[in-house]
Amino acid sequence: MKLLEERILAEGKAVSEEILKVDSFINHQVDPVLMQQIGEAFAAHFKDRGITKVVTIESSGIAPAQMTALALGVPLVIFKKQPSRVLNDNLRQTVVTSFTKGTSYELTLAQDFLTEEDHVLIIDDFLANGEAATGCIRLLRLSHATVAGVGVLIEKSFQPGREKLTEQGHEVYALARIGRLEKDRIEFLPADDAH
Ligand code: 5GP
Repeated sequence: MKLLEERILAEGKAVSEEILKVDSFINHQVDPVLMQQIGEAFAAHFKDRGITKVVTIESSGIAPAQMTALALGVPLVIFKKQPSRVLNDNLRQTVVTSFTKGTSYELTLAQDFLTEEDHVLIIDDFLANGEAATGCIRLLRLSHATVAGVGVLIEKSFQPGREKLTEQGHEVYALARIGRLEKDRIEFLPADDAH
């Protein structure tokens, strides 16, 4: 997505050769117009897949996932990161290791919101090692829901996330793909919507 790549070049900051900061338009301050265009781009690609729900992980995935769900006309389910302090039989949980923070959290879903009837599109801001997306897929499996695909705004293609997911038979659709990250240099690979 040309618009997203231009924005990354203009405002993205490589914190290291592995981490890109996009706090001014995705992660902290959010550009709602860009999010709307992103949502429409995902919806255009996945519109004929019979998607019944969009899921994401709080919090950075919510803005683009909400716009995608709106464009597809389906609900958004937000997987929570807080561990449950209240005993509740209704919860499904799986442990995920955070790439950026180096810590783990318990990804949590109230089981009422996904069923075996659901055909689910996973949306997230970044794809790095694929831990977050794989955690989402584990929760979808526990709910007997089907994975329709994984849409990410930014894939860091020098990390193994895409490979891990495609090896398991899941489609990854990335609007921007970064082949290389250096302090003052961001190199893109052709994005999945460029074909
Ligand atoms: P993964 O689970 O694929 O290793 O990492 C994806 C998750 O880590 C995303 O949900 C995202 O929030 C975070 N993440 C991974 N890489 C980056 C990055 O370069 N910048 C930012 N801001 N977040 C990242």
